[in-house]
Amino acid sequence: MKVLVLNSGSSSVKYELWETSPEAIAANSDTLIKRGNVERVDDIDQALHTVFDDLGALSVDAVGHRIVHGGAKYTASVLVDAQVEKDIEDLGELAPLHNPHNLAGVRAAQRRLPSARHVAVFDTAFHHTLPQIAYAYGLPFEYLTERKIRRYGFHGISHRYVSWKFAELHGKSREQYRLITCHLGNGCSVCAIEYGKSIDTSMGFTPLEGLLMGTRAGDVDAGAILHLITQDRQSPLEVLKMLNSESGLKGLSGVSNDMRDVQKHAAAGEPRSQLSVDMFCYRVRKYIGAYLAAMDGADALIFTGGIGENSPEIRAQICSKTASLGISLDAAANTAKSGEPRQIGHGRVPVWVVPTQEELLIARDTLRCILNIPHE
Ligand code: AMP
Repeated sequence: MKVLVLNSGSSSVKYELWETSPEAIAANSDTLIKRGNVERVDDIDQALHTVFDDLGALSVDAVGHRIVHGGAKYTASVLVDAQVEKDIEDLGELAPLHNPHNLAGVRAAQRRLPSARHVAVFDTAFHHTLPQIAYAYGLPFEYLTERKIRRYGFHGISHRYVSWKFAELHGKSREQYRLITCHLGNGCSVCAIEYGKSIDTSMGFTPLEGLLMGTRAGDVDAGAILHLITQDRQSPLEVLKMLNSESGLKGLSGVSNDMRDVQKHAAAGEPRSQLSVDMFCYRVRKYIGAYLAAMDGADALIFTGGIGENSPEIRAQICSKTASLGISLDAAANTAKSGEPRQIGHGRVPVWVVPTQEELLIARDTLRCILNIPHE
């Protein structure tokens, strides 16, 4: 089956066309036919028009859509129907920066391919196993039950993929391991996966909480935010934009949201860039420590995402001063260049790099939903 995977964001539409089947999944031989990234210069229909121009004569049997927020309701991928569309729309209240664009992508793809099956794959779904002690905030209980103010977690597609891949490489299932997965890209999150289940993760009600990211602040005292609004009279929208788009590596360093640029400036002795790199690594290390405590140990620590896969310096800095936790890197393995999953630390907690393949997982889930076969 040829599955078009669409990631419809605010400024671009990323796509990959995969050929997959139950046999290909079992043999790990799904094939990527084409991939691309279309800037969303005009409206979404125009962007999809460009995608299909790129695809030319290639046929599409089904479409898998990446949807950021599935709330508490969507615990797995589903075929899109009118109810699912309405839910994605309603959940736009919780993810105003993402869900409306994702849904616009679903609707445009349906207009373009009315006879194809469309599947929604949620970034939140993998975290539906979070226990209440991890997903509740310390607010009055009604805020949890009535206003649904809780941790949902994101990047679930990536955390799920790399944990599955790690187990598969060992000929086992995810249920046999306690894993800490670090997705470090433009967005960043850490996840504690205890015997197959996500039991804690650093992103919360929105993708803003937790680690320092490219442009997002990560953890900030809510009191500081309220201070900006009540005392400094900044508008809530201004503050939201500052926290999401002007903070993180970009805002701290004043250089860029791209880790490579920030590293370059740090190496040239620029103190704000050095602070940004140091804070980035320190915060990841703190979360690793927290999740070792949450699971009473771990059977592996896994790095993924653009930074996690490609920066030996950042991995080394995160894994410095962690020897007593059983985490130590093998310097040669850490710096060796490779695009393959690989072990880079041989301490009590083995350390791995596992390149993420979110689109592949979306293509496979799309097939599994359509054929009604169980997900891994
Ligand atoms: P992602 O969102 O997973 O595509 O990751 C994108 C981020 O990965 C970019 O913003 C870069 O900061 C980072 N990145 C990619 N390659 C490298 C590298 N060799 N060293 C450090 N950071 C990198």
